[in-house]
Amino acid sequence: MKIHEYQAKQILRDAGIAVPRSIVARSAEEAKAAFETLGGKLAVVKAQVHAGGRGKGTIKTNSAQRGVQLVKTAEEAATVAKNLIGGALVTLQTGPEGQVVRQVLVEEGCDIARELYLGILVDRAAGGPVVIASAAGGMNIEEVAAHTPEKIFHEEFHPDSGLQSFQVRKLCEKLDLTGASVRSAEKFMKSLAKVFVANDCSLIEINPLVVTGSGELLALDAKMSFDDNALFRHKPLMELRDIAEEEPTEVRAGEAGLSYVKLDGNIACLVNGAGLAMSTMDLIKLHGGEPANFLDVGGGANVDQVTEAFRIILSDKNVKAVLVNIFGGIMRCTTIANALVESYKTVGFNVPLVVRLEGTEVAEGRKILKECGADIISAEGLTDAAKKVVAAAVA
Ligand code: ADP
Ligand code: MG
Repeated sequence: MKIHEYQAKQILRDAGIAVPRSIVARSAEEAKAAFETLGGKLAVVKAQVHAGGRGKGTIKTNSAQRGVQLVKTAEEAATVAKNLIGGALVTLQTGPEGQVVRQVLVEEGCDIARELYLGILVDRAAGGPVVIASAAGGMNIEEVAAHTPEKIFHEEFHPDSGLQSFQVRKLCEKLDLTGASVRSAEKFMKSLAKVFVANDCSLIEINPLVVTGSGELLALDAKMSFDDNALFRHKPLMELRDIAEEEPTEVRAGEAGLSYVKLDGNIACLVNGAGLAMSTMDLIKLHGGEPANFLDVGGGANVDQVTEAFRIILSDKNVKAVLVNIFGGIMRCTTIANALVESYKTVGFNVPLVVRLEGTEVAEGRKILKECGADIISAEGLTDAAKKVVAAAVA
């Protein structure tokens, strides 16, 4: 689960981590009032969406309006907020459709001496959390990572003992931090590591981590996401979920108990088991196709779930063919065949359907499909299924 910058900053603030003062605004009037309340000569109006790259991103219908903008008066804050709220912000992370801005953060302008990068994520190879840091922070960090990876430093730490002082000092040396900044970093980095572990985060990204004119560290941006499987033990975090920011079909799938991730290809797949779903996608790609989704209906899917799964994958306008790949282990092939026939009748298929069935009660399952009168291309084995569906999508 992802959250907004303003929510992440509140979590940081509560943990004693330095962040600039800021106020959320949901209208131009509120933005104007926020500027006045902050009382400074300078503020920054920042679009709040679950995507990064806002500083370089622009509003779809107003390419002069960027997602993060410096303002000098309350009127200017109002104008920028008006341009942003209701508009779709297109950034490198949103895709061409953009993401609709529903609120902005009005934040006090900060005196920036340096922009660093500081992140924490779960390193699966190391089997634990790792701090990622770079002196080359700011809006071009992706290019730094791609072209000069040696400028990015890693420091693994143990989740129980937390980030240690010697590790902070090591990072400070690499980031060229001295004097007051080292003392500031000690508190900042250790607290951030604590927040990461205490909330079962999968990612915290502070970019930029600013060194102010007086040498203090300040989180100017904050991105935070949580491990969905651990959310049950963080009820207050669940309140922060913003469904409007999520892919509507993924929300629907979640409600039906399906694991679904929308992708950009044109071959929809319906599979039981996450591993089989992954290899099905690999096979589609191997044979020249592009999967439109990941979908695992699980081991015990019923007719309602399978029907909903078909509705979801067929609601994607890019889909040109569907591949059903079922290995009946816990699930019987007859159950899935009946569900298929049922949904074929109720959902209304407008694209070719390729089915590969194997496992428990496979003969009976195939018979059901054959006798139902539906226009189904049956496949034998994984390669055959992938080839047939790729051909069907092109035809
Ligand atoms: P994104 O990462 O989505 O582009 P950021 O919050 O990092 O958005 O903002 C982009 C840039 O805007 C930052 O790198 C920083 O230079 C500038 N910026 C952001 N917030 C402030 C602020 N409060 N004061 C001054 N400059 C800011
Ligand atoms: Mg940023």
